[in-house]
Amino acid sequence: MKCFRLALGLMRLGGHNLYPNIDEEENRNLLRAIFESEINFIDPAYVYGNGRSEELIGEVLQEYKREDVVIATKAAHSQNEAGEVIMDNSPGFLRKSVDEALERLQTDYIDLFYIHFPDEATPKDEAVAALAEMKQAGKIRAIGVSNFSLEQLQIANKNGDVDVYQGEFNLVERGAEADLLAYTAEHNITFIPYFPLASGLLTGKYTEEVTFPEDDLRSGQANFKGERYQTIVSKVQQLKPIADKYEVDIVHIVLNWYFSRPSMDVIIPGAKHVDQMRSNLKAVSFELSENDIQAIDELFADFK
Ligand code: NAP
Repeated sequence: MKCFRLALGLMRLGGHNLYPNIDEEENRNLLRAIFESEINFIDPAYVYGNGRSEELIGEVLQEYKREDVVIATKAAHSQNEAGEVIMDNSPGFLRKSVDEALERLQTDYIDLFYIHFPDEATPKDEAVAALAEMKQAGKIRAIGVSNFSLEQLQIANKNGDVDVYQGEFNLVERGAEADLLAYTAEHNITFIPYFPLASGLLTGKYTEEVTFPEDDLRSGQANFKGERYQTIVSKVQQLKPIADKYEVDIVHIVLNWYFSRPSMDVIIPGAKHVDQMRSNLKAVSFELSENDIQAIDELFADFK
């Protein structure tokens, strides 16, 4: 599976349950712009619109060649009898999820399939064994897990079947550096950091306190509140001289920095508009020097 270093996070694609004012025509145009750019790797999930992100990809993909696109999707969200959202990693649920995702995507294989979140009941090696069978059957081509603890990952990877780990990691959420990154590097597992821009906060565009509508995911995030928000904004602005040196913007410096971490070689920033997606291509157009990597590391060391 060959993919460009910059992929696109598609949480907004058909994500009516996560963000207000999702415009599906804009979503389709974003997909077309991705497929016509160097970017060939996309990151939807069942829960982004409860299947809608995958359906939109399936629709637009008909206009392009399947083999030119690398699709990574995820599942675990289910409902109990009371209609509450629960996580399910049982082999039966994962098999059904792969088959349903294939249908929505209108394809006969998925390049990378993740267990999106751990449940409490299923032994993680049994969950991954179900995906290994689907891989054997040619329905999926690589196995991922997301939001697992180190211990869950170790059990999941008992037979060396996990290809990719996806977890929250960015300049201000650096917990994975304490344990997960050493494990993924040692076991040749790619670590894909999600929320690489801390939902936009690390782009350099924020200065004054912001508020979001209640139905926007960001309205509840601690990063966007009080003293923590002020500290982050001030540190992000201190990246400006480094950005000037490479003739790019702060957002590109932040995105490029992830490549300096062990086992990170693909990034999946989200984009609201085609312009943001195109701008983010600049993030893979240069290499940060060792000195600059270290300076950025030290500036955000308090968040380790
Ligand atoms: P993100 O990548 O941290 O932030 C993306 C947001 O930043 C955009 O929606 C846009 O929002 C802003 N932005 C992006 N590029 C910009 C630019 N060049 N200039 C200015 N603003 C820019 O957060 P995310 O999209 O929420 O997360 C990334 C991806 O990670 C998701 O799409 C999803 O695929 C994945 N994810 C996975 C999990 C998991 O459990 N596995 C959880 C969360 C996310 P505004 O314009 O509104 O500021």
